[in-house]
Amino acid sequence: MTTEAVGSQDCPEQNESPATLKHGGSYLIPLKTTLETDTVDKVISVFITAVPIKKASSTLNLIRNLLPKDGGFDLQHLRRFAKLAAVPTHVRDSYASIARPSDSSSPEDEILLVLAPTSVVSQKFLVESLAVLLLDEVPIATIEVPLLAPTSQEQATGWTAKYWPTIYKKSNPFGPHPSIVSRAEEEIRGDMDKWMELARETARAAKSVGAGEAVGVVIVERVNGAARPIAIAGDARWLDWLREEDGGGQGNVTAHATMRAIAMVAGQLRRADQENSEQGAVPETPAGEDIFRELPILPIEQTAVQEPANTDGYLCHGLEIYCTHEPCVMCSMAIVHSRFAKVVFEQRMQATGGLCADGELRHGLFWRKELNWTLLAWQWCCGSQREDGNLEVARELNA
Ligand SMILES: [Zn+2]
Repeated sequence: MTTEAVGSQDCPEQNESPATLKHGGSYLIPLKTTLETDTVDKVISVFITAVPIKKASSTLNLIRNLLPKDGGFDLQHLRRFAKLAAVPTHVRDSYASIARPSDSSSPEDEILLVLAPTSVVSQKFLVESLAVLLLDEVPIATIEVPLLAPTSQEQATGWTAKYWPTIYKKSNPFGPHPSIVSRAEEEIRGDMDKWMELARETARAAKSVGAGEAVGVVIVERVNGAARPIAIAGDARWLDWLREEDGGGQGNVTAHATMRAIAMVAGQLRRADQENSEQGAVPETPAGEDIFRELPILPIEQTAVQEPANTDGYLCHGLEIYCTHEPCVMCSMAIVHSRFAKVVFEQRMQATGGLCADGELRHGLFWRKELNWTLLAWQWCCGSQREDGNLEVARELNA
């Protein structure tokens, strides 16, 4: 382990994300999905030409007949036509290089048109086909355009300036729909600071009593707008466990704060189930076998409401989980499999976190369709550069 630690200094600048939510100084940064991260600036080459405005639509109709559905490419995020003044300089230059010097028409009479991806048709074929309609050999240039739809207005604006006029359709094929994210932010903005503060306090307590690392987690149930904590857990990996230097490895992995908090909810559901069943109580876990540490250890953990109101759903269905640190891969998978609705954490764990798609591991586990469950995820930033040495953990820690 290095001595490099993760503290509050790695909070991104607030203006980095226009989607951030300001509330009493604190704000949320929606995590990017793996698809959103991977598709940034992927481009394809397309043929463009300039046509007289009067013949613009007939030219496009010809192209659509020649190449139905653009040869299998979805170009709907691109403006099909663009005035010369609306395209980036290098596209204007491409146009200038192919413009017919003898042409009597001025640039105002012409409009640029995206013809087709270069991979689906040859330039020769296009020239020959268009000559029939336009009664002339048309000049064709090749430019690069974004392959996939932008996921934000900012991205569309950037691509318009860099490539070609691009349209943001207020939809997101690569992650949660923006309106769902903003509605969820509305829902949690009123009390998120409270849960994060509680998670921090739990983390400090876990560290100070020597139970584990400075990691804390709070699980919140929200019913009809009213939220309450139903599980509070600090890290307990070193409780009755050999320290790393004594051969204890990375500690008791089932006692990570997230695993403990989920186990607490599971325990509550199990007990509620047993009380309702005719078979009566099942024996408690025998002493010494409770490596899952699902029972409260710290006084602060006992302040959680001990029973979830909704016992119908699947384990943590619809619940929110607030973590001081980005959960490790194992804990992130547990969050996905328990079917949480939202996860919020403060410190990114670049080397070990399972949620971020743009860290070192790039797992982005909160939004992977192949895992059959997706949830919303944010980084919470307290807004002020509040140093808290008590919450520092090693960079390589699996939180
Ligand atoms: Zn973990």
